[in-house]
Amino acid sequence: MRLKDKVAIVTGGARGIGRAVSELFAQEGAVVIIWDLLEEGSTTANGINTKGGVAEFHSISVTDKEAIHAAVGDIHTRYGKIDILINNAGITRDKTLQKMSLDEWDAVIDVNLKGVFLCTQAVVPYMKEAGYGRIVSAASNVGLRGNFGQTNYSATKAGVIAMAKTWTMELGKYGITANALAPGFTLTEMVEKIPVEHMETIKKQIPLQTAAQPIDIAYGYLYLASDEARYVSGICLTIDGGISR
Ligand code: NAD
Repeated sequence: MRLKDKVAIVTGGARGIGRAVSELFAQEGAVVIIWDLLEEGSTTANGINTKGGVAEFHSISVTDKEAIHAAVGDIHTRYGKIDILINNAGITRDKTLQKMSLDEWDAVIDVNLKGVFLCTQAVVPYMKEAGYGRIVSAASNVGLRGNFGQTNYSATKAGVIAMAKTWTMELGKYGITANALAPGFTLTEMVEKIPVEHMETIKKQIPLQTAAQPIDIAYGYLYLASDEARYVSGICLTIDGGISR
């Protein structure tokens, strides 16, 4: 029970990596609050509750400042604290530079970068007051290396790494750690759009020769959210089968 009685928000927790994080955190004793736009979030939360964990689903967009602040206030009123924020929600709108529209650029910046900023800004006053906090945000190995067709996405993921380093400097004195986690190619709905032949090419470039499962990434989030990582802040933990080295 590495997260016993901790209160954790997991954005984008309805499916994919966020669902694996929500399930693992609940197994480890955390109260898990899932924020997502997909109604699938209630299935995920119900599944956790059925297995004896504690989870809630709220339909909240990470781009909606007012809804985020209201939800954070409500969690604090009901549970008295917010220990962990997992900024996991993310989207892609892939196009090569010349073909990328401003709408595609803005959509990805809004969710992946502004969303992380808004959610973190909302929880930090409560974490400061408690003298404790764990913030872990979803980067990607493409935030370190760039990627063909992902001008918008790779820029946001590099930005998430830089924000974690900045928050480490600003928030360390309040007992708050801030880290980024960079998954590699992980089998979720997000990568389903990739043609099968291209998936095989990607896998061959991975030293471990296989894609990650969501749980492989969730274990990294668990470590960074746990007390075992109390002296770890400002890093980007890469879990990508050895691609970034
Ligand atoms: P996914 O598409 O399966 O899940 C993302 C979740 O975020 C979805 O449930 C979606 O509804 C939610 N979401 C999207 N916009 C939202 C919003 N405005 N407000 C609240 N929730 C919103 O993706 P995934 O593969 O599980 O990815 C999770 C995170 O990991 C993302 O940030 C992604 O960029 C990152 N990542 C994924 C991979 C990969 O290969 N799958 C690799 C590197 C990084």
